[in-house]
Amino acid sequence: MISNSKGSLVRPTPLPDSASRPVVTPLSPSVVYASDTPDMLDAQYDGDLQGYTYSREGHPNADVVAQAIDRMEGAPHMGVLTSSGMGAVSAVLLGLLKAGDHVIGGNQLYGRSLRMMSEDLPRLGIETSMVDPGDVDAVRAALRPDTKLILVEVVSNPTLRVADVLGLSALAREAGILLVIDNTFTTPRAFKAFDHGADIVIHSLTKLLSGHSDVMLGYVAAKDKAINDRLRVFTVTAGMTPSPFDCWLAERGLLSFDLRYDRAQATAAVLAEHLAALPGVKRVIYPARHDHPDHERAEALLKGQYCNMVSFEIDGAREAANAFARGAEGLSFAPTLGDVGTTISHPASSSHRALTEEKRAELGMSEGFFRISVGLEDPDALCAVFTQAVQAAVA
Ligand SMILES: *Cc1c(COP(=O)(O)O)cnc(C)c1O
Repeated sequence: MISNSKGSLVRPTPLPDSASRPVVTPLSPSVVYASDTPDMLDAQYDGDLQGYTYSREGHPNADVVAQAIDRMEGAPHMGVLTSSGMGAVSAVLLGLLKAGDHVIGGNQLYGRSLRMMSEDLPRLGIETSMVDPGDVDAVRAALRPDTKLILVEVVSNPTLRVADVLGLSALAREAGILLVIDNTFTTPRAFKAFDHGADIVIHSLTKLLSGHSDVMLGYVAAKDKAINDRLRVFTVTAGMTPSPFDCWLAERGLLSFDLRYDRAQATAAVLAEHLAALPGVKRVIYPARHDHPDHERAEALLKGQYCNMVSFEIDGAREAANAFARGAEGLSFAPTLGDVGTTISHPASSSHRALTEEKRAELGMSEGFFRISVGLEDPDALCAVFTQAVQAAVA
């Protein structure tokens, strides 16, 4: 028998009482929660008594974060946290669909979402169509009697096209199917998905919401209570519950989210104009710019919060791209977004490397195409780094 200072019991007595409360949410790594009696446990499982049982089923650190995002999104029921953004995407596609169903996805979805649509769902007997979410007529033409949902992102990656969310939401309503919005890029700061007709909202908290590139986490919430419940049950069964520590870090990141977002997107607007004026820059893609193909839609949907992502293209081939990345001193050349520091990604060598050069050209992604996730640097200092890097690339 293992002993501790209290005698022969391994588990110590409860925490000391304190009339005052901690300001910071305590981290609760406990996997199990002890109930007093079988009656009490019964009441917990029946939902008559609120209480945690086993952390895969739910734990306080996850609920605190879910409720914080619920408030930001205006979610009517407590959302579900998953161990990554892809967990949230998977929960919707695998937890709600069955063989014989058909789904429509945006044709420029996040790479892994596209892969799930093109590889995994068909293997399970679920048919998929990938359509331009800016073209409601094309989406309408893809509808079938067994179409169950449409999954889109508001702003696409990396060409920053803007989906016709209002048109899609009217279409989904008319067809009696679900509109699922991955709101990772736009965040509830720029876009309240439920207010714009979404039935289900998805986030990768890994990106802007947590914001420090030290947490991997996802969120999903449905307007309909029964669907929200199904998502929760599926994520618990599939083992997608995140660790308390990741949730605890995410909560800390969320505290400064609004400030970070506003700062990053204000700097992104400055950087976009700065890049557009640099010799050697062929084009700049930023939805706030009047030359953006979806500028008016972005203005109507995003209410002046155009997000922190800027894409641009320089002249030249891979050599110029390498020179640019080397010249961008102090910035991370890394395939992510939403970090406190500015990150630069190069689709031709990362997210879109599997495509042929012709296909990439069709999508407007040459060797000189870069995507920037703007962080919290001083705007002037950031612009100076880009001037230097573009000069190095065109030299
Ligand atoms: C990153 C990302 C995801 C996936 O999130 P992970 O947390 O990396 O699993 C899904 N959708 C979008 C739009 C993303 O940017």
